[in-house]
Amino acid sequence: MRCFSCSKPGLSILCKKCIETLFVPTVRTRTVGTLDVISFFRYSTLESLLHTKHKPEGYRVYKKLGALFFRPFIKEFAENDEGEIFIVGIDEVVRNGYSHVALLTHSMQYKQARPQHAVLRARNRVNYSGKSLQFRLDNPRDFVYSGKEGVDVILVDDIITTGITLQEAQKVLMEHDVNVLFALTLADVEA
Ligand SMILES: [Zn+2]
Repeated sequence: MRCFSCSKPGLSILCKKCIETLFVPTVRTRTVGTLDVISFFRYSTLESLLHTKHKPEGYRVYKKLGALFFRPFIKEFAENDEGEIFIVGIDEVVRNGYSHVALLTHSMQYKQARPQHAVLRARNRVNYSGKSLQFRLDNPRDFVYSGKEGVDVILVDDIITTGITLQEAQKVLMEHDVNVLFALTLADVEA
């Protein structure tokens, strides 16, 4: 196959050179309400890769992004934390054969960290793209949680824009006695 970024032939969807030079994470934490959101990149850095979601090539791209960034993160976290942690992706809905968010959460299965598959589902999937903050507030995702109660959770999504969706998810989980430790996203649009 060819590197998605530079088209060089190779064995991986992203070549070593692109990973080492273009996709160097700049980890930052943004707080929305009472939720800390850790992101690996500015949205602009990853834009071409993120546009593959819901397309066939997005399967390999998101799997690779999970392996490159989410997996090392959870490994380090799990080594330093004894307790059981559950990983909850935002609305792991399958489109074109895969869920891009589930590819990220599945990369986080390590020791006492356990992804819970598709336990936080949105009842409202209206498109937020290009919409105002008020529109987002007026049209909440209306999540349903069917996962474990009374546990520690790391929330996962690919992109944070306003943070409203993550805050809404946190609120729903809290109603199920879930302690949301923080949220983890690939890219922050407002960073
Ligand atoms: Zn490349």
